[in-house]
Amino acid sequence: MEHDFVPTRQAGLDRLHAFAPDAGARYAAQRNFDSPEGVSQLSPYLRHRLLTEPEVIAAVRDIHGEGDAEKFIQEVVWRSYFKGWLELRPSVWADYRQGLKAARDRIATEGGLRKGWEQACAGATGIDCFDHWAQQLTGSGWLHNHARMWFASIWIFTLRLPWELGADFFLRHLLDGDPASNTCSWRWAGGLHTRGKHYVARAENIRRYTGGRFDPKGQLNETPDPLDGPPLPETRTLPDTPAPDPGLRTGLLLVEDDLSPDLPARDFAATATLSGASHRSPLKVAPGVLDFTDAALADARDRVAPDATPLLDADALATWARENALEQIVMPYTPTGPARDLLEGSGLPIVPVLRDWDRAAWPHATAGFFKVKKQIPKLLSAV
Ligand SMILES: Cc1cc2nc3c(=O)[nH]c(=O)nc-3n(C[C@H](O)[C@H](O)[C@H](O)COP(=O)(O)OP(=O)(O)OC[C@H]3O[C@@H](n4cnc5c(N)ncnc54)[C@H](O)[C@@H]3O)c2cc1C
Repeated sequence: MEHDFVPTRQAGLDRLHAFAPDAGARYAAQRNFDSPEGVSQLSPYLRHRLLTEPEVIAAVRDIHGEGDAEKFIQEVVWRSYFKGWLELRPSVWADYRQGLKAARDRIATEGGLRKGWEQACAGATGIDCFDHWAQQLTGSGWLHNHARMWFASIWIFTLRLPWELGADFFLRHLLDGDPASNTCSWRWAGGLHTRGKHYVARAENIRRYTGGRFDPKGQLNETPDPLDGPPLPETRTLPDTPAPDPGLRTGLLLVEDDLSPDLPARDFAATATLSGASHRSPLKVAPGVLDFTDAALADARDRVAPDATPLLDADALATWARENALEQIVMPYTPTGPARDLLEGSGLPIVPVLRDWDRAAWPHATAGFFKVKKQIPKLLSAV
């Protein structure tokens, strides 16, 4: 499959239906090889919910059954696990942003660190595989999962760069850049997610799963210690999400976290869309990422709310709410991340609607993946 990510729900559905026949035994056998051929490349669609987790799982299960599609279904549920994990510990996102600020302060004053960071982002470190992936990411907006794992590990343990700068590099360039999957995965690679368990990229593993294209023998730190960090915060319970009040003058707002909204039918006094994509990083987010998100929002307007106003920033949101005299703004639940940061500062009467899938999965993300994995049969029974 080519990296031609057309930012519409229809393109996501086409990709899903093209991939679904391969999502059983073939996926299980091929998914670790660094090639787009063996995996779905559905992540930009799932990230923005141009496609939803249950519909992707249903399409695959209908062909293969739950047994043969087990591996693929589990991977999709990893996404829900990370979303839930961060939602139960939103301070981890705030701490990441703080850590990123501190790392950026360091590169402003430490020439050696700055040079290392620039070389890593440019794909000019001299480690061929790493340089290839850096260029693949900036050129296409997507990387295979195994390449992301190796890349993060080399960034942290061989190049010894702050993990937050690597996570930020990904969020600036990935079309699927996701606050939960990305932050948790970088923390996991460094050994901060499951304390003391880090992911070590090994030359032999890279040689094997790149089909011999790369062999960085002797170039990697294969005996690093995991990163150290503060203890994990306590988990919170998910906030209450009371139903919208049918008696109030109501607007509908969509942000890029959920572009196939599943909301109770009603008439809205006004509808709008808002993108938080430029807030994924304090640095410039890649134009391809902004274009993808903008076009995905335009697609959502076409499908869901043709008269919706495309809002450009938080000030425009406040003006829209005021001019339409809105008493409540209904929207799909916006999980922890850049769009939520935008909304939280607005002080507007937002009524988030949590999807059944998220309500069922997220509360189990209190520890490792295992607890959510145990819920898969129950999750699937509702799909
Ligand atoms: C360091 C690092 C950073 C990452 N950053 C992101 C990110 O910003 N956004 C993002 O969507 N994924 C991220 N991932 C997870 C994973 O790499 C991608 O979701 C996957 O590679 C997307 O390709 P695909 O759609 O072909 O996946 P497939 O293998 O076809 O899987 C199907 C779907 O399952 C979900 N999924 C698969 N693997 C994972 C995983 N390990 N964690 C969470 N969800 C998963 C994705 O939604 C994916 O589209 C990251 C992984 C690592 C190691």
